Amino acid sequence: MPDTLPPAPPSTRTAPRPPLRLSCVVPAYNEASNLEAFLPALYETVRALSVECEIVLVNDGSKDTTDEVAQRLGQQLPLHYIQLARNFGKEAAMTAGLDYARGNAVLLIDADFQHPLPLIAEMVQLWQGGYDMVYGVIADRAGEAKAKRWGTWLFYYLMNRDNAVHIPENAGDFRLMDRKVVDALRQLPERNRFMKGLYAWVGFKSVALPFVPDSRRSGQSSFNFHRLFALAFQGLTSFTTLPLRIWSLVGFCISVMAILYGIYITVETIVLDNPIDGWPTLAAGLMLFSGVQLMSIGMLGEYIGRIYDEVKRRPLYIVANNDDRSPVSSEPVA
Ligand code: UDP
Ligand code: MG
Repeated sequence: MPDTLPPAPPSTRTAPRPPLRLSCVVPAYNEASNLEAFLPALYETVRALSVECEIVLVNDGSKDTTDEVAQRLGQQLPLHYIQLARNFGKEAAMTAGLDYARGNAVLLIDADFQHPLPLIAEMVQLWQGGYDMVYGVIADRAGEAKAKRWGTWLFYYLMNRDNAVHIPENAGDFRLMDRKVVDALRQLPERNRFMKGLYAWVGFKSVALPFVPDSRRSGQSSFNFHRLFALAFQGLTSFTTLPLRIWSLVGFCISVMAILYGIYITVETIVLDNPIDGWPTLAAGLMLFSGVQLMSIGMLGEYIGRIYDEVKRRPLYIVANNDDRSPVSSEPVA
């Protein structure tokens, strides 16, 4: 954590922010054991900053007693409770939270105590200083498995290689966003919501705040290797066309090799009068090209699948509980 905060952007120093009304969006999937302590702790932290606060809790189809805990805590805290009809995934749960949040700034925070509460004060200070988005960056991944760290490195390398939008390395969903950032995010129509990419895509004056995540207080992470891989793949295919281009490059290299080999066979057979037995070559070549073609068609299929998801235009989530609040209408961003 830095000792000194970055200076406020000069252009905004003269325009003080209006009083903060903070919406804390908390996605929760099977978090009953954490919420009991987490929501009061979050509320106390924000209240201690003399900031108006509402908590938007999104129950993402939990199978445990998250629902009962949320109903009970709703009697004690300024809680707006959204229950989704099933588990739609964290990205959809956060999208729902952003749709229903009413504050002039929104904090996204996990329910498992991994995002340190004391950092909220610094985030608020930076927002007041003129930044529109303050995002937490994981400063230390030493506690994570080597394979996960390498995978993360490779992901960001592929993602940010000649991509016009730079996605900050190790930035997560823990962030404070001004209302105009939230409105901009809500205008992005895509169904494949890779949030880390979308935050970067909308831009705005942003600043990173390094932090060391605490360990999960109770329960276990929903993101196993398979789910993380799927998320990374979703990110790559929704933000870059690199996977498609790789196959063009592979195809080009193989064609060059095939031409060189053809020349070699011609020279051996016609010039040196040394005919080459063709069957093994033919079989190997056939298998190689079939494999390459299938893989490239598969990659095309991935993109077509995403296009199919987009054209269906299904809602991102379904709210199950009857509620007096409807999604905040988002004004077009000038
Ligand atoms: N979460 C969610 N829906 C899901 C999976 C997770 O709302 O399908 C929530 C979860 O309750 C937590 C946050 O997203 O508040 C982060 O999840 P988790 O701790 O499992 O992920 P990790 O911290 O390991 O990345
Ligand atoms: Mg966690």
